[in-house]
Amino acid sequence: MHPISKAIRIHTDRTNEMEHSSPMFLTSSFCFDNSEDMRAAFADETDDNIYSRFSNPSVQEFVDRMVALEGAEAGYATSSGMSAIFASFMALLKKGDHLLSCNAIFGSTHTVITKYLPKFGIEYTYVPADKPEEWEKAIKPNTKMIYVETPTNPGLEIVDLEAVSTIAKKHNLILNVDNCFATPVNQRPIDFGADLVVHSATKWIDGQGRVLGGVIVGKKALIQDIYLFCRSTGPALSAFNAWVLSKSLETLDVRMERHGNNALQLAKALEGHPKIKWLKYPFLVSHPQHRIALKQMRNGGGIVCFELAGGLQSGRKFLDNLKMLSLTANLGDTKSIASHPASTTHAKLTDQERLAVNITPGLIRISVGLEHVDDIISDIRQALETC
Ligand SMILES: *Cc1c(COP(=O)(O)O)cnc(C)c1O
Repeated sequence: MHPISKAIRIHTDRTNEMEHSSPMFLTSSFCFDNSEDMRAAFADETDDNIYSRFSNPSVQEFVDRMVALEGAEAGYATSSGMSAIFASFMALLKKGDHLLSCNAIFGSTHTVITKYLPKFGIEYTYVPADKPEEWEKAIKPNTKMIYVETPTNPGLEIVDLEAVSTIAKKHNLILNVDNCFATPVNQRPIDFGADLVVHSATKWIDGQGRVLGGVIVGKKALIQDIYLFCRSTGPALSAFNAWVLSKSLETLDVRMERHGNNALQLAKALEGHPKIKWLKYPFLVSHPQHRIALKQMRNGGGIVCFELAGGLQSGRKFLDNLKMLSLTANLGDTKSIASHPASTTHAKLTDQERLAVNITPGLIRISVGLEHVDDIISDIRQALETC
């Protein structure tokens, strides 16, 4: 079966009730008929469920579907994207190791890498997302992992996955990719040589702004180490959230196709607007890494970003002018969302620090929803008029 079909047809074992839709397994633990079965499960001689911090059928269904979509060997689901990312670092890196990461990464990932990993004696170096030629020079004898996000949040820079994976293979490093912005229906990093793929399932995978979740998929041996770390430290995904997220995977492909079409139409409609200094979308020829985006992505995804000619104050004015788009911290929802990083998520940084991670004063990020594209375009157009 095609991965898209597997994301619909992989199903928890049917119970005696003969249900068609997967039930939700809200149970903390699982029973055994006798002491021998229980002993064997604890001795890892069987893969029977024991306790929902270790495994749960609803969670496993979500993981199995993600494994199929990403073309991975195995996976483990966590309570949020950040716990997935943190577990992928903590399970596989140790004191004295070095992590190479692209500089444009999600804010909390940046905090983990710069504030918490050093507490455990793990060093890091940032390299520019768009210049893989600089990456090899930054590799040290103790480098163990390369971490990338592509497209990056919020700047939509594209990392050439094939180029980075060639470097990782040559130096025997683990390539770990945050595939949150593209989702596996638009980009499969493992096909380009990634060893691990991490996700915030909170975003496009849920797609309706309801629950938090995360998942890590990849090589079996690496996932086993991550599983053992998580089994003891406890960032397990709840069965309820897993059930919601697994259902969402059944529609991921059609949703992402529409998000991508809406985003491309919006990007084309706004490009060249007099109030906009520049606009970025991976599938516009004007995007600096357009050719790489075409090579590794099926569509450009649901995020469009642009710089308002009027800078910081225009950014706030633009948000206030919007009538339909939501002002909220999430992205990847059926509802279109606008955000202005310089006055919100990145407001605590100095101008210099913001510029270093490409957060310009008038940067607006649009998470393009599933409303009719004409309504999205006209709300943004009217908001631009007076800013
Ligand atoms: C939101 C996000 C995360 C963190 O995910 P949570 O589910 O909020 O913990 C990580 N990476 C990217 C690219 C994100 O957008």
